[in-house]
Amino acid sequence: MDEKKNELFYQPKNGYDRLSAEDRLACEAYCKGYMAYLDAARTEREAVAEAVKLAEEAGFQPADSLSGPIAPGQKVYFNNRGKGLLLAVGGKKPMSAGFVVTAAHIDSPRLDLKQNPLFEDTELGYLRTHYYGGVKKYQWTAIPLELHGTVALKDGSTVEVVIGRDSADPQFVVTDLLPHLAADQMQKTMAKGIEGEKLCLLAGSVPYAGEGTDRVKLAVMSLLNDRYGITEEDFISAELEAVPAFDVRELGIDRSLIGGYGQDDRVCAYAELAAILEQSQPERTAVCILADKEEIGSVGVSGMRSQVFERFVERLCGGAGPVQECFSNSFCVSADVTAAFDPMYPEVSEIQNTARINYGVGLCKFTGSRGKSGASDASAELVAYMRRICAEAGVIWQMCELGKVDQGGGGTVAGFMADRDIDTIDAGVPVLSMHAPFETTAKLDCYMTYKCMKAAYGG
Ligand code: MN
Ligand code: MN
Repeated sequence: MDEKKNELFYQPKNGYDRLSAEDRLACEAYCKGYMAYLDAARTEREAVAEAVKLAEEAGFQPADSLSGPIAPGQKVYFNNRGKGLLLAVGGKKPMSAGFVVTAAHIDSPRLDLKQNPLFEDTELGYLRTHYYGGVKKYQWTAIPLELHGTVALKDGSTVEVVIGRDSADPQFVVTDLLPHLAADQMQKTMAKGIEGEKLCLLAGSVPYAGEGTDRVKLAVMSLLNDRYGITEEDFISAELEAVPAFDVRELGIDRSLIGGYGQDDRVCAYAELAAILEQSQPERTAVCILADKEEIGSVGVSGMRSQVFERFVERLCGGAGPVQECFSNSFCVSADVTAAFDPMYPEVSEIQNTARINYGVGLCKFTGSRGKSGASDASAELVAYMRRICAEAGVIWQMCELGKVDQGGGGTVAGFMADRDIDTIDAGVPVLSMHAPFETTAKLDCYMTYKCMKAAYGG
């Protein structure tokens, strides 16, 4: 019977029972690089800046250097307004043969400062926020936060702001009620326990010397003016993001897990990036996208729906043939995280079709919710193709969907790539506590996602 079972049954195994000694070492080295990237890239802008640094070290040049179709082995990148990044390595085949593209996003849930954020209440200074993406608001109180971003001034110059990253810097916090006085709050649902308008950062407490109102607000503004040369009106044209101040760390006695903010989806972004930086002359041109705005619908000029992708591909084609023909012959891996099975919450998953920690990169035929609504449902043929290239490249993978039927769901950029007539499949790292200020992944799964991206590019 066992023999027959082995022959006929699909039997996923723990990745550690299949990992070669060589891959085990490579996994550790890869994860060191990933953790350093994640630590340095706390916003979409920083994720782009860090990626450009790595790309330039690997010999990539701005796409302006293209004078005609991309040549075999030529390496270019396009920095989309500092918030999105597109990279390519020219293939042996012409662009009309299509390209292989991997698409991840680099924006993560956070608390954005409002455009008029500063106020004082009862002699304490605060910064108002409007949260970005899907957050469980109670998770964002009583944790250390940093402020990162850009203030654009009327004269056209910009000021980069980072407060809280350096160990000598102060940090911020959103306060919460003490349990002693939370009798009413604790009766509320978790959705209502913390209100969006109460997610205000505590920003100061010392009043400006003298008489009058708003003395703490004035003192805070005065310090910001000293350090950054900005006035209150300048907040109007600023993008300042409060992000968790936690360091990226190994988790578990065995150090097999990684804890950090923004792993959705910088864990896949880094996997793609590491994979394309190693390409020298792929068969088909390799393209890597780090997109912004996925968490709010892939909208805007830096999101995956933007025509900036068409413009980039036009450049790669260099006027040689229609872009549409090129799209039709292309293949996309939409690289985004998926939900890992959590034994503390088994009721939301159906174990037979759920991604598990240490079972490798999670392939999703479809995402979406309630009857696959919103999914880009990859074809059976495309899934078979992925099975084949993963098998050939020794990628440990698992087939999964996000949660039980009718429990909820999620989306990725896959649909927007497929809209362009590009065959697209979802693949990514299973995550515990996704969208929390501190998310958890497994090293083995991170590494296998990188190997999967390399396999997609052709090795
Ligand atoms: Mn995501
Ligand atoms: Mn997400």
